Parts: sequence; structure tokens; C-alpha cells
Amino acid sequence: MKNKIVALFLAAILVFPNVALARTYHVPIIMYHKVVDICPSTSKKDYAFYITPKLFEAEMRYLRNHGYKTIFMKDAAAAIAAGKNISGNSVVLTFDDGTSDFPETVLPVLKKYNLHATIYVNPGFNGKNDRMTWEDIMALGHSDLVEVAAHTMDHVNLTTVSLDEARSQIEDSKTVIEHLIDKPVVSFAYPFGGHNADLANMVQSLGFTSGVISEQIGEESSSTQFILPRLRIGDTNHIETFIKLLRG
Ligand SMILES: [Zn+2]
Repeated sequence: MKNKIVALFLAAILVFPNVALARTYHVPIIMYHKVVDICPSTSKKDYAFYITPKLFEAEMRYLRNHGYKTIFMKDAAAAIAAGKNISGNSVVLTFDDGTSDFPETVLPVLKKYNLHATIYVNPGFNGKNDRMTWEDIMALGHSDLVEVAAHTMDHVNLTTVSLDEARSQIEDSKTVIEHLIDKPVVSFAYPFGGHNADLANMVQSLGFTSGVISEQIGEESSSTQFILPRLRIGDTNHIETFIKLLRG
């Protein structure tokens, strides 16, 4: 019986090769937070998520020099939904939290190497502490190199609040950002990576086309594009670690 099932599966791959390909898409989704020089007040916890401008530029130079194609999360999601195979040298660069180092430090490097990135922002924090201002977000909305995406209003761990509260955190962030940039917002990132099946269904029903988490679990183990894993970059990484991550 088992042999019969295996034989049927192999026959299906031969007859419908695209079906098999669609299940084994591979596009690295890289997760960045701040790109800053580490200072004495940086906590060990934060340090694990940060990367220095020097190393960041080395990584972007590597992508450019080795023929990598950076694509927006929304385009990766559209390809995954359509069952299209994403080109082997594609990579998605994502940045969480909408901190002010993005327009100041990251964007000039993206422009220098003509690379694309998706940035997940929390409109509830705009202009506060180290976050971007409303004007910064509006300006990013005009950039061909940046996809502005949602990360809830107030960076809430959605698994710790009611479903009603989760819904307004997700929906309001989408509405506010769309109003600011005058473009549809279709990509979502779960703050602190907090996700579950109910939240994934909610993200989908609110008009998003993808949801990314913070864990690095294998892509093939994720049954839905609303719980997509990402590869984490922190300053403890070196360029060699980055290259290894890219190659999977
Ligand atoms: Zn975040």
C-alpha cells in the first residue's frame, strides 16, 4: 500500500511538475531591525537584533556584486500564491519597527546599490523616541525601492490580547499607513513574532497577502503564507554568516 502511494506521488510529480515546484519555493526572507553603531547603553538583548552600518553595507554590496535580486514581500507573496517558482537568486529584505535609522542610514545604501526593501511600521509610535515621523513614512511611500507595510498600531504581542483588540491593532495600522502613503498595504509582520492560526486567518481576511514571523523555522514546514519564517540578522553575525544564510 505504502509503495503504491509513493508510486502515485512520483507519477503526480512527473505529470504535474509545477505542483511539486510550487510546494518547494525558496526565497530567503531576511529580518533586520536597527542599523546602528553599538553604544555602551545598548542592551545585550537589543544587540542581538542590531547590525552596524559597516556590516550592513558589506552585506548589501555582496548582494549587488553576486547578482542577487531583491524583491518586495508583496511580490514574493504574489508569486507564492500563484504557485510560481521564485528565481533562485531572489531575496526579500525586511526591516521591523520603522526606526529613524531607516531613512538616515539604510535608504542611502539601498539607493547606492539599487536594492529593494520592505519596512514594517507601527503608526502608533510615529515620531516618538527613535521612530520615524509621519513625514518620513509619507516620503518612503514615494520611493520605488521601499514597500511600506504594517506591524500593528502599537507593537502589541497579538497572542496576549483579545481577538477584537488584535483585529483593531492590525486593521487600524493598515488603514492609517494606506492613508499616509496613498497605496495599498498588503504585507504584515507579527510583533515579537506572536502568531497562531486564528491570527493568521484574521490577517488574511483583513486583506493582507502575507504575514511574517520572527522564527527561522524551515519554509517548507509552514503550510500558509500568513506564517512565513524569516532569517534573523544581528550584529553577532559576520558577512560569512550572511552568505551562509542566503545559501540556506
Ligand atoms: Zn517589531
